[in-house]
Formats: sequence, C-alpha cells, structure tokens
Amino acid sequence: MLLVPLGINGFFPAHGRHTACYLLAAGGRTAILLDAGTGAARLAEEPVKRRIAGCEELHILLSHYHLDHVSGLFYLAGVWPRKRVIIYAPGHPLVDANAAEAVTRLCGAPYFPRSFAGLPVEVVDVTGAEVMVGGHRVRFRAQRHPGGSVGIRIGDVLCYVTDTAPDPATAAFARGCRLLLHEVWFTDEEMERYGGPHGVAAQSGHSWAGAVAEIAGQAETASLAPIHLAPWRSPGEAASLIGQMEKKTGLPVLMLEEGKEVPLG
Ligand SMILES: [Zn+2]
Ligand SMILES: [Zn+2]
Repeated sequence: MLLVPLGINGFFPAHGRHTACYLLAAGGRTAILLDAGTGAARLAEEPVKRRIAGCEELHILLSHYHLDHVSGLFYLAGVWPRKRVIIYAPGHPLVDANAAEAVTRLCGAPYFPRSFAGLPVEVVDVTGAEVMVGGHRVRFRAQRHPGGSVGIRIGDVLCYVTDTAPDPATAAFARGCRLLLHEVWFTDEEMERYGGPHGVAAQSGHSWAGAVAEIAGQAETASLAPIHLAPWRSPGEAASLIGQMEKKTGLPVLMLEEGKEVPLG
C-alpha cells in the first residue's frame, strides 16, 4: 500500500500546501481518501492521476465536517469523473452531526449547482467502531474536538489522527501501526504561551508537538508523520518541528511532501 499526501495543512492552503487530504492506493480497483480538503484537487494532477487511473471506486473516509476537511468534495465531479464514490461519514454518537444530512446539505443548493442525486455517490453513515472498506478493516474512535471528530485506523498499516486535543488513549488505538499520521497544530512554545497543557491550546481541540511525540512513543508505531500543519508555519519551521519531535520520540519522524509517495508495505 502507498500513501500519497495531497493536503497536509489545516485551516487554509499556504506555502504550496493544501488542506487535509491523503490518498491510499493499494493497486487494484479501489482507492481510499482520508478526508477531502482542498488537497483533493491534486487527484487531477500528474503523477497522482496516473497512479489511480485503473481505480473504479473511491472510498472517502471523513474525520469530521470542518471545511478544511470537506471542501474538496465539491471537486469530485471534476477530479474523479463518472466513477463510483462511497463517502464514510461519521454520525452520532461518534460526532455531533447527522452524517447523511451533513454531506448532502454541503453538496447541494445553495452551496453547489447540482446535488449528489444522479451522480454515483453513496453516503455511508458511520455510527459504530468498525467497517470494511475495499477489503481493509477500518476502525473509528471518537476524539476531543469542537463538534467531535474521529480517529481512523486502517488495518495495521496506518492510523489517521487529526483535529483532536492530545489524548493518551490514542496510543492504544494506534498501537503497532506502521505509520501514525497525527496532527501537530502547536509547537510546545506556543502551547506554553497559550496557558500550558490545560489552557487555550488544549481547549481548541488541537495538539502540540511534545504531546504527540509522547503518544507516538507509547503507541510503538514504526514511524510518525506530523499533519494538519498550521498554514503560517514556513517549510523551515516545519522541518525544525520535525527535528524536535524526532529527538523526543526516538522514532523516525517523516516530513510529508504533497504528491510524494510513501510506501507502507
Ligand atoms: Zn482541521
Ligand atoms: Zn476541525
């Protein structure tokens, strides 16, 4: 299986980075997308387009409905034309939303000129802990974020943990995975400046570098990649954040690059 990061920012695109979207391609007919932020636009770019040319089904796993994670759903008709789309949308009690309503409202009038009706799009309401997606066992876990969000684990290959306050229980959820994608919105200095580990940073429902390094160490994943980068973080600042985290965890910490494939074995 291959991971192709398509959008590694949170909030808004900057420094050439799109918002939350990650492609998993295992060969064959099926491709998986983790979130559909503005990075979904890269499905139409080479060599990503070539990589998925043989795929007939796109399975989109959504973590939650904040716009930096779903705005790329608008692009589907252009970047994934005429092929089947299955959207796994979290609902109660995992998040504070009605799944089908959240997706169909977003992709219809007055926000969009045509509804999903008539397009080969199916919305699966995810309310439990587990579904099978393209032959992979996918697990979900409720997280601490305004309105709720879910962590997503795909087999033992990858764990996707974005838009959450740091939660020690994530370590058990991610245990033994090959790669942990975990949001790092704040540096430790920023967290301290905003009132420490119980201050504004934690209340915002986002994580900081030191806490994520600790979780990854406890999870004993083979590697860690910080995601959902703050748009104001320059490439140099992102690289130094990674260096700091590597020192803290002792794990290989990857700096993802949009469009650049990461083999997951
Ligand atoms: Zn976000
Ligand atoms: Zn969010």
